Amino acid sequence: MEILPNIYQIKIGGQDIPGLYAPNVFFVVGNDSAVFIDTAYGKKNEINSYLRLWEEKLRPKLSAIILTHRHNDHIGGAIQLNKATDGTLICGDKEVSHITKSFNNIIKPIGTKNGDKFNLGGITLEIIETPGHTSGSICIFLHEQKVLFAGDTVLGGTTTAISPEQGNMSHYIDSLNKLINYKAKYICPGHGELINNPQEKLENIINQREKRENQILNILKDGDFSPEEMFSKLYKRLNKKLHREAIGQIKSHLIKLKNESKIKVNNKGYYSIERKL
Ligand SMILES: [Zn+2]
Repeated sequence: MEILPNIYQIKIGGQDIPGLYAPNVFFVVGNDSAVFIDTAYGKKNEINSYLRLWEEKLRPKLSAIILTHRHNDHIGGAIQLNKATDGTLICGDKEVSHITKSFNNIIKPIGTKNGDKFNLGGITLEIIETPGHTSGSICIFLHEQKVLFAGDTVLGGTTTAISPEQGNMSHYIDSLNKLINYKAKYICPGHGELINNPQEKLENIINQREKRENQILNILKDGDFSPEEMFSKLYKRLNKKLHREAIGQIKSHLIKLKNESKIKVNNKGYYSIERKL
């Protein structure tokens, strides 16, 4: 579906888990070349629809197949798409080793950095490094139409998971602030529908995270708690499949607050307010 001039969104599959939407693949076509952004899971019907679209557009040369981050619902179709179209696989520098490992070392994507540009003919794409969801997550900014392709850094209708193992909450907030400076008119998120109020959306996410932090600090005013205990206080009704993710989210907030010396943790994993003398 052409959601904006020269920008196609391909979404396959529904919503299996409440709060989790099918991954988006975007196809951007310029006068000289095109790019795919992300590749979903790599199921046969998905690959067929990407290739059908590429053929409908008369097989434009692919400047790149850009992978916004390492997760399987974004890189699953990458190898097949690369083989069929000869498009070079590109990802954030810090994702190269993770993605290469997921590809069983069959192929190594090329790392890209903040400010790298792709000129598709009348369309200029710029890479923005946005660590947070994963350490090497990137967003892509289309200058002419002011469209931001956000991967999982910004999602439509759901919250970005920041796990303590792969992500970092402080970096995530910094990345969101960085994105505000681009003054995008639209955001094409990694999951969910086109967002047409980007500034408001970005500010809302920052506010939500701040609110969550204040809730955590408030809980800790009453005593020492483990992340699991805080989880049961913060989330009353949440699908069981999302519990682990939610506890990870709390842990990421706790790491941030601890680094800011607002809280401390004892050797049993219980957190408390840092009371300065
Ligand atoms: Zn992801």
